[in-house]
Amino acid sequence: MFTFTITAKVPGTLARAGIIETPHGKIETPAFIPVGTKATVKSLTPEQLRDLVGAQATLVNTYHLYLQPGTDILKKAGGLHKMMNWSGPTFTDSGGFQAFSLGADHGRRSKIAGAHSREQAAADFSRSADVEISPNAQTPFARVDDDGVDFKSVIDGSAHRFTTETSIDIQHAIGADIIFVLDECAAPDADHAAQKKAIERTALWAARCLVRHQELKEEKNSRKLSEAAKAAENEPHRQQTMTASSVEAFPPSALYGIVQGGRYEDLRKESARTIGAMDFDGFGIGGTFEKGDMATAVGWVCAELPEHKPRHLLGIGEPIDLILGIENGADTFDCVAPTRIARNGSVYTRNQGRLNLLNAQFIEDFSPLDPTCSCYTCTKYTRAYLAHLFRAKEMLAGTLASIHNLYFVVHLVKQARQAIIEGKWVEFKNSFISP
Ligand SMILES: [Zn+2]
Repeated sequence: MFTFTITAKVPGTLARAGIIETPHGKIETPAFIPVGTKATVKSLTPEQLRDLVGAQATLVNTYHLYLQPGTDILKKAGGLHKMMNWSGPTFTDSGGFQAFSLGADHGRRSKIAGAHSREQAAADFSRSADVEISPNAQTPFARVDDDGVDFKSVIDGSAHRFTTETSIDIQHAIGADIIFVLDECAAPDADHAAQKKAIERTALWAARCLVRHQELKEEKNSRKLSEAAKAAENEPHRQQTMTASSVEAFPPSALYGIVQGGRYEDLRKESARTIGAMDFDGFGIGGTFEKGDMATAVGWVCAELPEHKPRHLLGIGEPIDLILGIENGADTFDCVAPTRIARNGSVYTRNQGRLNLLNAQFIEDFSPLDPTCSCYTCTKYTRAYLAHLFRAKEMLAGTLASIHNLYFVVHLVKQARQAIIEGKWVEFKNSFISP
């Protein structure tokens, strides 16, 4: 079961509020989806993620779960939800962005253009998946062809390959509610010809992913029917139990296509029309953006995509970008930035921007991280306490700062949803941009 219902729209913009229904519950949109790279949002329990952050869903990285612990273990555990004890909706990305992140473009890939050194590319790679690259890993590389991408593991340097079919197979084995096609994400400074090649390959791969996805769904459905029939034959009264335990841990997932095209209007629109015409359950907006032009590119894409299907903006999470993304038609967002900067001592505030708690001015500051925030951390702890925990390198520092930063962005997007529903979008946007 997967549906999307639009409940409110903002006239004159592409902003809308809606509800996505998945086998593991609903997501009220717009929504920010915290990233749990390796089946954990770093330093938080699932209960903290749900109760203290207010997260409705989580997105985990296929690339990392494929390498560690591997799909056999995830299958034996009964799927992602059981393994990580998260009962709500889940997303997996295709693994492509991480596989591509180093090598094929000689180390020049990030979500926003401007990274040019290998060191910067490594930092961007870490940002894309909230992991540190092992110093023991061999130099990673990626090589793309029309059938997929060859890459080396960041854990041990071993060689691997993702094809359209294996990416979908792995994501089905992991068992998330919403999964993505394998796509080619070109370098930020790729020229028009290179970006055109990437959208053509992405369209070719999208069609193949769709075919493989349908095959797996049919296999699951027929397996479900035969297991139910067998159960009814053997022990009629246990039919429902058998079905629930053996099959429902792996419900058929919803598949999202991905739109690429870099910063070129004609390519973004062409990609949106081509991918939008395919029978996907929703759409991801991927790739890299020119700094300051992200919202414009999202608007080009969302104006072309079918209105009645949900849209996910991949890897964007700065507060201002979330507001502009919503205004330009995006429904859900994921990004590792809130937790990554939290672990480094940086916290978002409504009126003072981003604060670095390692600065000396916070050592004796006994006010909350953000006086306007009502999260667990802000209602119980002070800047001085967190400044001390970070200096003392205590684990609780990352947990408390992560709770605040995730609550901040999740809540910001919830407020945006409320403003859309109440017809107060313009006031909300203006109060955020010039408080
Ligand atoms: Zn807070």
